[in-house]
Amino acid sequence: MQGAVDLHRPHVEALGADFMPVKKPEEFDAVDAFILPGGESGVMLKLIDVFDLWDSLERNLKSKPVWGICAGSILMAEQVTNPKQKSFGILPIDIERNGYGRQIDSQNTQINGYEVSFIRAPVIQKVDESVETIASFEDQPVWVKKGFAMATTFHGETNLETPSPMHRAFMEMITSFYASKAA
Ligand code: GLN
Repeated sequence: MQGAVDLHRPHVEALGADFMPVKKPEEFDAVDAFILPGGESGVMLKLIDVFDLWDSLERNLKSKPVWGICAGSILMAEQVTNPKQKSFGILPIDIERNGYGRQIDSQNTQINGYEVSFIRAPVIQKVDESVETIASFEDQPVWVKKGFAMATTFHGETNLETPSPMHRAFMEMITSFYASKAA
């Protein structure tokens, strides 16, 4: 709908997968997995509402692997604050929008040896014990997963060295999801 979509293409294609931006219910149904991009979650919610996409998105997000980045992770959370807003609740985390405040609201840093960008990033305030923390930054979880849902509060797609470790991990998640369905 909005945000950093195309930067994912080289990472996805470097892993041998097809990349397809999707905006319509029939397109949602056609793909195997979703990257919910970074951007502005309030704007995304408005567009989802205006184009009446909530139900088809919810059905798809609950039945396929999903990776939410920054604004995308906000849409996946169970509880959102600053301000409180609607979300799909597909990952049992509480998240605060723009949680790093104004001064250090954007910066590049290394996560697991790979340069990533925090851009007006949210802070994950609480994770359910069923959620696995893959990486933390300043003692806060920034890369988490549960089942076939994964979230990063930072952007890995901004790095031109493809594929990023996050895209690689997501692809492994997709592969094991479809392997478990076939078994
Ligand atoms: N600040 C944005 C929001 O609250 C997220 C920023 C991002 O996705 N890089 O939705």
